Amino acid sequence: MALEDLYDPTEALNPEALERLQTDRLRWTVAQAARSPHYGKLFAERGLDPESIRELDDLRHFPLTEKQDLRDSYPFGFLAVPKDEVVRLHHSSGTTGTATAVCHTAGDVERWADLVARCLHMVGLRRGDVFQNMMSYGLFTGGLGLHYGAEKLGAFVIPMGAGNSRRQIEFMGIFGTTAMHIIPSYAMALLGTCEEMGVEPRSLPLRFAVGGAEPYSEGTRTRLQEAWGIPFHNCYGLSEMCGPGVAFECPVQQGLHLWEDAYLGEVIDPETGDRVVDGEEGELVLTSLTREAMPLIRYRTRDLTSFTPGPCPCGRTHRRLSRIQGRTDDMFIVRGVNIFPLQIERVLMSMPQVGRNYVIVLDREGYADRLTVRVELNADVFFGELEQLQSLRERMADRLRREIMVRPRIELVEPGTIPRQEGKAVRVIDERKD
Ligand code: ADP
Ligand code: ZN
Repeated sequence: MALEDLYDPTEALNPEALERLQTDRLRWTVAQAARSPHYGKLFAERGLDPESIRELDDLRHFPLTEKQDLRDSYPFGFLAVPKDEVVRLHHSSGTTGTATAVCHTAGDVERWADLVARCLHMVGLRRGDVFQNMMSYGLFTGGLGLHYGAEKLGAFVIPMGAGNSRRQIEFMGIFGTTAMHIIPSYAMALLGTCEEMGVEPRSLPLRFAVGGAEPYSEGTRTRLQEAWGIPFHNCYGLSEMCGPGVAFECPVQQGLHLWEDAYLGEVIDPETGDRVVDGEEGELVLTSLTREAMPLIRYRTRDLTSFTPGPCPCGRTHRRLSRIQGRTDDMFIVRGVNIFPLQIERVLMSMPQVGRNYVIVLDREGYADRLTVRVELNADVFFGELEQLQSLRERMADRLRREIMVRPRIELVEPGTIPRQEGKAVRVIDERKD
């Protein structure tokens, strides 16, 4: 990788230099964190001090920070600067319970924009590109986060926000959109809008798309790439660590580079808290290295992933995370069996008859749990032979049983009939009463 092709030479920093940079920043971060009420008290109680950090491994002495800690000290218990230094509030969407408040200084906002610019530059965004941002603006970090990064690169940014599907497609044509930022499940839904409008998605001037904010399978990505006729790059982040831009897929598409000059990553066994080896799945734990307003030490993201072993052919030295498989709390239990929604998605997306949306419904039949997978089919299949539909339903149930050990009921439905959210897709509807 030629250095001049990089947005920031740090992307290809040699591992020793990167580690030195991380160690310095970690020491700074711990000192900064100690200014917040939460960490100030915790460090004093445990006798932890920034000077004790000689090497990265010393981080092990610090306890994990839980989402519950953020909730317990909502809204300002983690704030490490005077409130008048805060210029921006973001708020997690509260997908899994009470939301958390995240404050930013001007420096935080600036560095975040720079990281996002690095991500977008990596997949080819340049001045002259038209960037349509279809993530919702406001407290959710997806909108403003990517907006600032794209502007920083000098792209022509269209702050569309989420929804308004026909207008999204019209604008693509009128303004010649070359790159879009979009939630994967919405990118699927928008294909239906193209169909209704008689627009062939591959005829649009798009060059690539980026999107994340929710788990999606490799099969979903492949479908999106084929239908839109462009590469679709995975983007990962969470409000507590600024938002999108924490880890991002390079054009090689074999894992997401975790920007290790800004975030220190560990993958742990969620049960024991021990680190797992590269390649093994576990929970991602992140320590911010440059956050001023709300530094977080060893924050449990609850996201399941692994470090991809070996260097990336693109030449960047920052380690890669594998596709995020979901959150520990996405797991649901049916008749005693643990299941992740993405296991179901993987099976569905490997079947060409399956359309663009699905939902998992849990309820009870008598005392027994009942798992129903409601699946949209492609129109030609749905309106085809009844016998074929029946055999498809059988095959689908068999394949799912092999994957999740429970044989689900299958409901095959017409394209476009499953309601979808404007933001993150809600994949599981649990109607069981406790
Ligand atoms: P909330 O936790 O309320 O959803 P955020 O909007 O901060 O709040 O969402 C961050 C979470 O979204 C991550 O912790 C992760 O679970 C999920 N997420 C973000 N990007 C991806 C991605 N590329 N793949 C899978 N999950 C993602
Ligand atoms: Zn790479």
